[in-house]
Amino acid sequence: MKTIKSLLPAFLPLLLLLPSWQMNPALDAEEATWVAMLEEEKLARDVYTYFHDSYNQQIFANIASSENQHMDKVKAVFTGKGYELPASVANDEAGKFTVEAIQKLYDELTTKGDVSLTEALSVGAWIEEKDIFDLNAMIATEEDAEVKQVLGTLLEASHNHIRAFSRQLGGDYIPQILSAEAYNEILGQGNAKGMSHGKGKGQGKAMAGCSGNCGGSCKGGSCKGGGCKGSGSH
Ligand code: MN
Ligand code: MN
Repeated sequence: MKTIKSLLPAFLPLLLLLPSWQMNPALDAEEATWVAMLEEEKLARDVYTYFHDSYNQQIFANIASSENQHMDKVKAVFTGKGYELPASVANDEAGKFTVEAIQKLYDELTTKGDVSLTEALSVGAWIEEKDIFDLNAMIATEEDAEVKQVLGTLLEASHNHIRAFSRQLGGDYIPQILSAEAYNEILGQGNAKGMSHGKGKGQGKAMAGCSGNCGGSCKGGSCKGGGCKGSGSH
């Protein structure tokens, strides 16, 4: 009883950084953050593999294979830092996690995706949003330049993945974690890179499936929320 209160402050910053992850009190804060990050990559890989088994859509196989590479990159960071791999990764059991909150997410997200392919694609976009949010938080505090670069590679891939899921959903996805502005900027970067040669930054904002200048946050052709700024200048 007496120790509970004194433990709280030590864990508080980590809980703020990664609000949905339950931390393992046996690990120090930094190691617990990395275990959660490794299992978050595994979560993505295992959920997409599960959806590929259900729906046989190539997008899930392609992105699952990318997530497997991300796990390898994070495992290399573990080696560098002298951290022990969690049992879930050491034994590589599909759908098994040591962080309780991530286990719960796996169970909930696969159940949600069972409903339909559209739900499964939306789950994919949501996982990528979460990954982008958490990676940005880690990048902001990471001091080792090499490790920071690894995190940057994972972030860039998550941007690609969320664009891919969004395209499959016809631009109909509404972000749940990222702001509409941040989400639209990520979608716009994909357009600027992939499609609009010679156009400047911020030109690729009108998304497939949207009429007008709604970016990715329009539903059925009408604008929703704060993501409807028509100007591409920022
Ligand atoms: Mn990833
Ligand atoms: Mn991803």
